[in-house]
Amino acid sequence: MNLLQYQNFKLQHCMKFTIINIIFTSFLFIYCFTLQAQEDGYKKLDPIYIIETANDSIDIASNFYSFYDSLAVFFEDDTLYSSFDNEIIHYPKVDFSNKTDTTILFLTDASKKSFYVNPHNGEVTSRFGLRHRRYHYGTDINLETGDSVLSAFDGRVRITKLSSSYGYVIVIRHLNGVETLYAHLSQINVTNDQLVKAGELIGLGGNTGHSHGSHLHFEIRYLGAPINPEDIIDFGKGQLISDKLFLTAYHFRYQREIAKLKEACFHKVKSGESLGSIARKYHTTTKTLRKLNRLKTSSLIRTGVKIRVR
Ligand SMILES: [Zn+2]
Repeated sequence: MNLLQYQNFKLQHCMKFTIINIIFTSFLFIYCFTLQAQEDGYKKLDPIYIIETANDSIDIASNFYSFYDSLAVFFEDDTLYSSFDNEIIHYPKVDFSNKTDTTILFLTDASKKSFYVNPHNGEVTSRFGLRHRRYHYGTDINLETGDSVLSAFDGRVRITKLSSSYGYVIVIRHLNGVETLYAHLSQINVTNDQLVKAGELIGLGGNTGHSHGSHLHFEIRYLGAPINPEDIIDFGKGQLISDKLFLTAYHFRYQREIAKLKEACFHKVKSGESLGSIARKYHTTTKTLRKLNRLKTSSLIRTGVKIRVR
């Protein structure tokens, strides 16, 4: 082997080594990348990780796109809630009253032909909010016993049972983590764990449970916390107000009202007392008392009745 042949041989050997080295490095890189992707995948499936992500403070204006990416995930049933319980109607409420961030929830998905349908086309007879001394966590829709009740969104049936207060009740969990509840039914037409499409018949309206007259009591909850359905749905038009729900503390402002209610003070009206004398006793005004108790100017207070004074 002369010098030229030797140099040629050395060059070929060196090239072979370099090619093997490149192939080996590439495989190593792909392997590491796959491991990382798997790890990211696990992170996405970890419920604690998801809740933390959902609660991270986000400045929408500057981070909309990264925020969009991180939350544009339709959560699989068991990831956000950790379980899919067929017995307990309400999960413990997550307290969102001091929520400082915005959680974006996609309510429809055109690519999956996933839309919204009114559970029943009827007049809204009672709204979400304070009702006497109790809180009404849903919207009441007028119907006749036997009328169709439809699933509002695509989802999976979590609860089908007879409850003393709700009567025959259905709870459906939707892929974005939102749950809808349909109460006082006369008949349930679905079974637990059944997948349903929006607009599918799930039951018949009725007057079961704690109900006076046939109506549908409809609730929307997210991680156990009720949301006013009319913040999301225009029942009259049978449409969503928006395809996306930007969930903020504003949607849970009622929790402050409930906290105030817990601090409320009541007075049992004695014989001979008037609204004026009670107002003086509690250092308040008759106007405030009328407002607190939803009394008309003409309405009289009867002896023995408890009225709210604070
Ligand atoms: Zn109701």
